[in-house]
Amino acid sequence: MKPKIGVFSFTSCEGCQLQILNLEDELPILLGQIEFVNFREAMSEKGEDYEIAFIEGSITRESEIEELKKIREKARILIAFGACAHLGGVNNLKNFHPQGSWLPSVYGRTDLFSDTIPTKRVKDVVPVEFVIPGCPIDKKEFLRFIQGLLLNIQPRLPDFPVCVECRSKGNICLVEEGKWCLGSVTRAGCDAICPTYREACAGCRGFVEEANIESLCNILMQNGLSKEEIRDKFRLFNGLEPIDL
Ligand code: SF4
Ligand code: SF4
Repeated sequence: MKPKIGVFSFTSCEGCQLQILNLEDELPILLGQIEFVNFREAMSEKGEDYEIAFIEGSITRESEIEELKKIREKARILIAFGACAHLGGVNNLKNFHPQGSWLPSVYGRTDLFSDTIPTKRVKDVVPVEFVIPGCPIDKKEFLRFIQGLLLNIQPRLPDFPVCVECRSKGNICLVEEGKWCLGSVTRAGCDAICPTYREACAGCRGFVEEANIESLCNILMQNGLSKEEIRDKFRLFNGLEPIDL
């Protein structure tokens, strides 16, 4: 029996689902091992007999809470995938503005989404067994995750920071150049793709265990950033994390 999988999307750009579909070379083999029964971006059938549910997106509307709870009741294993589901993602930014005040600038009108609520992570609403981080997820990490599930091996995320991957590639450190970067407090696994292209790590994979946020803040202030600028960098993806900035 192939495990039956549902892929569900809440508030997000749906780019993480797209990463699954981007596994063009691997999908034919994968579909011999698993069966998608509900995956709106890929198929029109809407099966309810899934045992594993992948949840993309954060919860930003009252109606999404009930939808998510129904999925949780049916799924034996529930996985939050992508930064929106895992961390709240960029959708968390609305929590730092008065409720609904952002509607005109985002949608050009105010009569939409009357049931909007402050953004929640999936784990704030239902229990989550696993997380696949990233904005978007790394499709190879998704594949390793499925392989682990099929072999009944507990999937594990890297427990070291992006800096380790970045240094091993021989990159020149942005922070040492007097710029900002959150790589020292962010969980690795993306092959340090942003600093490799000279862009700062914005923390889309969430914090590594025992991240020393205070120390990084002190260094960034020495580099000339104000407290407000540092707070805004952290808020982009990690605004719902319980850190004092
Ligand atoms: S550029 Fe960023 S990720 Fe790379 S070593 Fe410096 S702080 Fe770490
Ligand atoms: S370098 Fe940072 S922001 Fe870029 S993909 Fe990796 S974790 Fe995300």
